Amino acid sequence: MNAHEWFMGLLDAVGSGTANPHTESGRRQRQCPAHADSGPSLSVRPGPDGSVRITCFTGCTRDAILAALRCSRSRLAKAAPVPPAQYAEMVGLRLAFPPVEHKRNGPPSARGFRLEAVHDYGQAVLERWRSGQHKELVWETVRPDGSRVPGLFGVSIADLPLYRQAEVQMAIAVGEPILLVESESSVDALRGWYSTTWAGGAPAVNIGRLAEVLGRYPNTIVVPDNDPAGLACLARLHAAGLAPHVLMPGADEDARDLYSRLGPAGFDHAIRHLVRAVA
Ligand SMILES: [Zn+2]
Repeated sequence: MNAHEWFMGLLDAVGSGTANPHTESGRRQRQCPAHADSGPSLSVRPGPDGSVRITCFTGCTRDAILAALRCSRSRLAKAAPVPPAQYAEMVGLRLAFPPVEHKRNGPPSARGFRLEAVHDYGQAVLERWRSGQHKELVWETVRPDGSRVPGLFGVSIADLPLYRQAEVQMAIAVGEPILLVESESSVDALRGWYSTTWAGGAPAVNIGRLAEVLGRYPNTIVVPDNDPAGLACLARLHAAGLAPHVLMPGADEDARDLYSRLGPAGFDHAIRHLVRAVA
């Protein structure tokens, strides 16, 4: 274990937090032990030869930081002969840190969120970020050179194609069932099925685009979210003639939940039963 690894281990052992434990850069930005830091303000970087470089952005000196951790300067060059947690125990380190302040502005990556999925809509992508139970959706515009910029520029959500539209159009051409669901994560979860959704979720159901792509396709099966927003959306699909079949999940379930509850075979049975019933 080099000095950098050991020092990071010591910060872990004393409870110095980070705004984002999911990335390497996040892990290197820690709460400073020398001041009441909701920051995190302490940068901990590896130096040459495995040494460690520490800088508190609010101005604590290196000696103050080391003193707070009961470490000598030599710890910046060389790990102690005992593991960090044992060292903290031996020298009686008891530090209390305030909660890490998650910045309200800035990208989700700077606020402790982890990128869970990227959904491709051609000219735009939808990123899904998660931190515990909190979810955040971020649209990015795809530039002609393939790079991405946050936000939607020169493109509105209503102009976007359906999710996986090209695959759906091919499936329609050969008469396969199309599952119309209310989120990209449900589409992604329904492995082995042709499924789609529209950009924007249940409150922004894109009747025009759906009518254009699915039209009066008889093998469309809507699997709505079984909650008030999802059922209101289903009613709009019904009214527009876009819901020839409906497979209703259990209370508060969405298509993904139903699929995991029934399992692939049970789900397949339910769909085939519906499609055959009308064929
Ligand atoms: Zn400090």
